[in-house]
Amino acid sequence: MTTQSDLLPPGSVIGILGGGQLGRMLSLAAARLGLRTHIYNPQADCPAGDVTNRITVGDYEDTDRLIEFANQCDAVTYEFENVPTITAKTVSTITPLRPNARALDVAQDRLTEKTFLRDEVGVGVAGFEAVNNEFDLKRALKRMGYPGVLKTRRFGYDGKGQLILRSDGDIAGAWDRLGGQPLILEAFIPFKREVSVIAARGVDGTCRAFPLTENIHRNHILHQSLAPAENDTGQAQDMAFKILTALNYVGVMGTEFFELEDGTLLVNEIAPRVHNSGHWTQDAGCVDQFEQHIRAVAGWPLGDPTPLYTVEMTNLIGKDVETWPDIMTGSDSHLHLYGKGETRPGRKMGHVNKVMKF
Ligand code: AMP
Repeated sequence: MTTQSDLLPPGSVIGILGGGQLGRMLSLAAARLGLRTHIYNPQADCPAGDVTNRITVGDYEDTDRLIEFANQCDAVTYEFENVPTITAKTVSTITPLRPNARALDVAQDRLTEKTFLRDEVGVGVAGFEAVNNEFDLKRALKRMGYPGVLKTRRFGYDGKGQLILRSDGDIAGAWDRLGGQPLILEAFIPFKREVSVIAARGVDGTCRAFPLTENIHRNHILHQSLAPAENDTGQAQDMAFKILTALNYVGVMGTEFFELEDGTLLVNEIAPRVHNSGHWTQDAGCVDQFEQHIRAVAGWPLGDPTPLYTVEMTNLIGKDVETWPDIMTGSDSHLHLYGKGETRPGRKMGHVNKVMKF
């Protein structure tokens, strides 16, 4: 049960590590609830900077600056998973860090993550092996067979830091191409579709989840999310709740899955934060993922995640953003722009939610 002492009253300050578009949308949601936000970011000019009450500009490893920041916050959260361990430790000695540092440790390293999911939570994942040199790679491929997906353990995103190996001929140079760093080899999963679930856990342990979302990628970057996805058995939500509980997690978490032909779900990865595949919730007529996260971090009761509309979310990447005047004219389309000055190829500039009644 949530007790009165867990609740941060309106006017409280939520610190957010990171000033990108997720920090921006979290700040907007917090403002709606009468809460203030304080962004910590290495640059002053950032998407969240336009809409937050305060910003501290500092390096993530500048402990003095972090201590100063944390002392001005009633709770701190983050909008990216590569928050350095030292940053998380420094902040959490001063004020509650939600989600906790363990969630970061698990999500930052694909080997730790897959081992945790398989052995501690007991959910399905692709077969995997640690690869620390070319010899390990040959041995692992012999055991697992082709094709295999070779990935960096840390700092991979949007398909960066990974290679598909289809035959012995692909081995030479693979280790070097991925930077000669600790890797993980995963079995290639011939999935039917990629789906995700945005789930939240409150301070009192209550878990709630939005319906299943189907995700379509282009050039390894999320292009569209369709929600609610067809054939939602509730299995993905149950798996997400197990993960949240095992981590003693507080906040919103995104969980990405591969769905096989027979309906089996394998967890691909978890994101300990609000997630691009949950942006559709902003126009679905229910609580959205940003408000849900802020509620959890503030110790407030979670909102009802049952949508009133179906939504097709499309990311506006690079020059796609130039279509914004056309989007504005559609009565069923809701435009969200992130206030980024420079348009670059591959850069997420905004998104559009096209809604339809059920
Ligand atoms: P990731 O960075 O792990 O999210 O991978 C990016 C994309 O690569 C995923 O969304 C999948 O489309 C694809 N992918 C990653 N791992 C695998 C795998 N083990 N089997 C098949 N496709 C994969």
